[in-house]
Amino acid sequence: MDECKFYEGLLNLPLLEVTSVELSKDSILISCCSKLGSAICPCCKNKVTKVNQVYRRKVSDLSISGRSVVLDLEIRQFVCLDCPRHFSEQFDFVSEHSHTTTRQSKWVFMLCQQQAHSQVAALLDMSNSQVAHIYQCEATAHLSSCDRYALVRNLGIDEIALRKGKGDYACVLVDLDRGWVIDILPYRDKDKLIEHFLSKGAAFLQQISHVTCDMWDGYISAAMAVFPNTTIIIDRLHVSMHLNQAIDKQRKELRKEDKDAEELKNTKWILLKNEDDLTTQEKEKLAKVFEYSPVLEELYTIKKTFKAIFDSTLPKAFLLSCITQWVEDAQWIANKYLNEFVKTFNNYKTWICNYFESKLSNGVVEGCNNKIKTIKRIAYGMANFENFKLRILTQTE
Ligand SMILES: [Zn+2]
Repeated sequence: MDECKFYEGLLNLPLLEVTSVELSKDSILISCCSKLGSAICPCCKNKVTKVNQVYRRKVSDLSISGRSVVLDLEIRQFVCLDCPRHFSEQFDFVSEHSHTTTRQSKWVFMLCQQQAHSQVAALLDMSNSQVAHIYQCEATAHLSSCDRYALVRNLGIDEIALRKGKGDYACVLVDLDRGWVIDILPYRDKDKLIEHFLSKGAAFLQQISHVTCDMWDGYISAAMAVFPNTTIIIDRLHVSMHLNQAIDKQRKELRKEDKDAEELKNTKWILLKNEDDLTTQEKEKLAKVFEYSPVLEELYTIKKTFKAIFDSTLPKAFLLSCITQWVEDAQWIANKYLNEFVKTFNNYKTWICNYFESKLSNGVVEGCNNKIKTIKRIAYGMANFENFKLRILTQTE
């Protein structure tokens, strides 16, 4: 078998004839041309054999045993005498203006899913901008192949800080049933959200039956404005977070009053954690906290009751009466931090208590957010929001 035939077999591109191969330390340059004697005119679909001129085009292909591979393709420009027009022959393994074969692009995309673009560029001996370009084309093609909004019934809305401490938020939309990020938007204000949802069409707006979100008024008003058949649920995890904050404020105040109190040192997380997750040692420590501060014990106990109500699977009507009782008990304690919480709770009560019916929460969104944080770490230095978004959408499926 001669060398050219050997490389033809290796390339596994059946329509190519290899005419010569140049090996160097790091690369292999393979010159090749089509085995076909004719081409189909893109206009009249007739078979055309008359060649007007020949030129060459280089495309990068999958590497072979650590050497980068470049195909030096002979391209024939045909003339269709019927139309009449000139056209260049096309190959099925490379798109018209691409500098890489389709399989090489897919490989670049796959590598980019796990590594920073710069690492992929170094690995494949490509430039950063080349890798970024391929990634963008592949990811866009991948995403446009499906309408991510089409099947959504239960929509989770959450946000992530794009740059810490800059007030720069992105809004994350999640399909709660599939646990997918559907979209990520570089804003979270009401008017822009309304505009965005409206652009997705009437069928989408009609089919949304639940929206879960935090206590951000922009989300609530946007959802009320655009989804006619939706029940809005304030995410229970966000509500508990607020209740935890009340306890933490009380703890901080006590710490301030009595800086030397051993009982209060390193107790923040013990007070905030679920009781079931505490170790024996932590439980002992917690008992000492309560001995020192009955107020903290009261707050902790009422937090537990709150959680128990939300964990319960009893009917909504019954749980609503529990909540009414809970609010009364909370007010009875007359603690300023808890009162602040109760005030917020009452403002959003209807939406918070909608949870009792559907049991939907943003738990799955939180999971996505953790993935997004990982992507942010991998994609450090990725200043471009669109690229960041493409990464998230293709990687959280
Ligand atoms: Zn023609």
